[in-house]
Amino acid sequence: MAFKFKNVDFIGFDAILSEDERLVRDTARRFIDDNLIPIIEECNREGRFPRELVKPMGEMGFFGANLHGYGCAGMSNVEYGLVTQEMERGDSGIRSFVSVQSALVMYPIYTFGSDEQKDEWLPAMAKGEKLGCFGLTEPDFGSNPGGMRTRARRDGTDYILNGEKMWITSGSIADVAVIWAKMEDENDLVRGFLVPTKTPGFRAYDVHGKWSLRASVTSGLSLQDVRLPASALLPGSGGLKSPLMCLNQARYGIGWGALGAAMSCYDTALQYSLMRKQFRDQPIASHQLVQEKLAWMITEITKGQLLSLQVGRLKDSGKVSHEHISMAKRNNVAIALECARMARDVLGANGISDDYPVMRHMMNLESVKTYEGTQDIHTLIIGQAITGIAAF
Ligand SMILES: Cc1cc2nc3c(=O)[nH]c(=O)nc-3n(C[C@H](O)[C@H](O)[C@H](O)COP(=O)(O)OP(=O)(O)OC[C@H]3O[C@@H](n4cnc5c(N)ncnc54)[C@H](O)[C@@H]3O)c2cc1C
Repeated sequence: MAFKFKNVDFIGFDAILSEDERLVRDTARRFIDDNLIPIIEECNREGRFPRELVKPMGEMGFFGANLHGYGCAGMSNVEYGLVTQEMERGDSGIRSFVSVQSALVMYPIYTFGSDEQKDEWLPAMAKGEKLGCFGLTEPDFGSNPGGMRTRARRDGTDYILNGEKMWITSGSIADVAVIWAKMEDENDLVRGFLVPTKTPGFRAYDVHGKWSLRASVTSGLSLQDVRLPASALLPGSGGLKSPLMCLNQARYGIGWGALGAAMSCYDTALQYSLMRKQFRDQPIASHQLVQEKLAWMITEITKGQLLSLQVGRLKDSGKVSHEHISMAKRNNVAIALECARMARDVLGANGISDDYPVMRHMMNLESVKTYEGTQDIHTLIIGQAITGIAAF
């Protein structure tokens, strides 16, 4: 018996949002409550991505929401963050899908693409008519993508790509894959390619047996002598900096998104603890040890909201650095995971059941902690920023 979500706002956070920001958040909140919450537990059980929500999400302007033109909503970064918060309050897998489509596929096309590439892909992707995936990670290279083995070599005016990518969100449902490869003829410079997934030699296969992000598609990609015209190269890409710029966009959204999962866990634990009675017919919320958990959760969520908002404001004014984004991602995912574990505890045996969203969030957040730079890697990014010493 899941509870209807109540807003989480301890210090009047909503009052420091603009009217437009609140409107965007409330619209996304209603969409998630009406469309995702009723089906998400079934999707999670079945390991099914709710594809039926893709077009409606496109109509709501959720894809490439902070990009301008090409049918994108042109939201501010704070508005976009509030959308990802609501997505992940529903499910991290749905937010992952939106992050990949927006930050990891539309953003590189928007930033590094030719006019033809932008015209071909962005309007269709904004509507959800075309889907994308982002292939950076390989079986042997995750935290250190610079070691990648995927290669592109020139053959006349064409490029031939060979390599393997692993753990790729939306891989088998994508129409186009952004593939990062080392250029044999350019001193192993890393560059991006737009690979239509129907191209001969390209194959996507799904990862099964996941206990996390079960409502999201995760795939391996194999590229064997994939022949592409020169127009498939993202002309503005060059060096590892290019995929890292994309990851930065996605990590920013994850910082907000994790707060959404944390809010869902906190709100469930609060409502449950007021309803559930143990000892002297008293609600468990009356026990100090339960209150301590709830107080910890709301405090950390509140700190996370302020952190994300400030990082969003910096991003909107062009002053954000990747270290700021690392702090938001690192902190908010860690506190969300801890909120999920505490909420699971407050719910007792019910905490392990999918009558409530808590255990699902907990399992999802284990992936969110790992992808887009692990917790440790973000620690090292912050450590390098404050000491000037790289400890990778
Ligand atoms: C569900 C899911 C979806 C994903 N989607 C995508 C996607 O769409 N596209 C994509 O390209 N990738 C994707 N990934 C891959 C993800 O980005 C990688 O899993 C992540 O970068 C970590 O790499 P790894 O799993 O190889 O772990 P490793 O890099 O092998 O790390 C293992 C452990 O070692 C630690 N470690 C590594 N190096 C250091 C160091 N120098 N110092 C201290 N500790 C270190 C790590 O923090 C971690 O704890 C996804 C992963 C998951 C689980």
